[in-house]
Amino acid sequence: MIQQTVQIEPPLPARPANLVFQNYQKTGLIIFVAALLYLRLSLRRRKSNRVCPQCNSRNPHHRSNCIQCSAPLMVTSFKEHLPDA
Ligand SMILES: [Zn+2]
Repeated sequence: MIQQTVQIEPPLPARPANLVFQNYQKTGLIIFVAALLYLRLSLRRRKSNRVCPQCNSRNPHHRSNCIQCSAPLMVTSFKEHLPDA
């Protein structure tokens, strides 16, 4: 009687093998992306803000007069009104 020695290996669990990122890497990546988005948003907001020529306080873009001193806000740069290239 000949015993066959073929062993069928059980399939490996798919999750740990296909997991590309470890948990801490995932968390770091999410934090990095969130920081990037926040940075981009804050930069864009700062760019669109208008600085008062009289008291140098920042005003939202839609304001035509300063919040602090109610001076009329001038268009500081001509580029502001150019369409994006
Ligand atoms: Zn002002």
